[in-house]
Amino acid sequence: MSTEGTAEGHLDKEFVAGALQAGERVLLIDRKDRRYLIRLSPGSTFQTHAGVVAHDEIIGGGEGVEVAARRREGKDAASRRLLVLRPTLSDLVVKMPRGAQVIYPKDLGTIIMKADLYPGARILEAGVGSGALSMVALRAGCIVAGYEIREDFAERALLNVAEAIGTETSYRVQVRDVYDGIDEENLDRVLLDLPEPWRALPHAEKALRPGGILLAYLPSINQTADLRAALAANGFGLAETIEVLQRSWHIEGRSVRPDHRMVAHTGFLTTARRLDLAEPTASLWEVGEESE
Ligand code: SAH
Repeated sequence: MSTEGTAEGHLDKEFVAGALQAGERVLLIDRKDRRYLIRLSPGSTFQTHAGVVAHDEIIGGGEGVEVAARRREGKDAASRRLLVLRPTLSDLVVKMPRGAQVIYPKDLGTIIMKADLYPGARILEAGVGSGALSMVALRAGCIVAGYEIREDFAERALLNVAEAIGTETSYRVQVRDVYDGIDEENLDRVLLDLPEPWRALPHAEKALRPGGILLAYLPSINQTADLRAALAANGFGLAETIEVLQRSWHIEGRSVRPDHRMVAHTGFLTTARRLDLAEPTASLWEVGEESE
């Protein structure tokens, strides 16, 4: 399976800036920050609680403008204006159709640095799920081979990636179980988001080049501890585990404080380097707190 088709990507060059065109997606945002992702199509309308928006009023126009949601009766013009903006990659990740749970933007951003994603890096990603991490790796310029055990998720990921990033990317997805083996060789990075990543470690060790980085995303700390124990036994060193806490702030007049609510937990990010030691002493190569 590979990305094919004619879906127009959000990041295709003509959709990054300039006038909004038919075929691309835009966000409509109301005064209460409710966000609607629509695809512009001539002659179409979009219905919200606020009223009806004609796509033709948006097509050919710019970003950052307001558009009217019209109702047959009623006034209150202010509440019926929607802001028009192109979606960011974060917007798309949160809004896109999902088969599996996606990795959230706060973790995706950190993964770029912790896994050291770079243009041309050869990556094996498993499981692909809804394709959120794939999008980030592709946008960083990586060459991505994905393994996904569920065919319906693989198809969903291909569609999501084609829509978000375009089809001119190096992206292949195979329907297969990564615990059975990895065919690719001399990989630069292996990214794992599945329940038992330790079962993929013997394959990742063979598939990664020395110095390569393995990154695993896991929701619970007992899974993370199991992974950490297995890493040292499989030729990996310099293991590190972090979580990302993101706290947004309420800033309005004299009321300046953290928001009452925050996402308390998503997952733990663990990284390790593939070592190439004569003796299997990788477990000695641990990261101490003093290295921070
Ligand atoms: N990182 C993805 C979400 C992955 S969810 C994103 O950001 O969108 C975990 C995925 O792993 C699921 O789709 C599941 O089907 C897949 N999976 C679980 N075990 C697997 C295995 N052994 N080999 C390949 N894929 C697997």
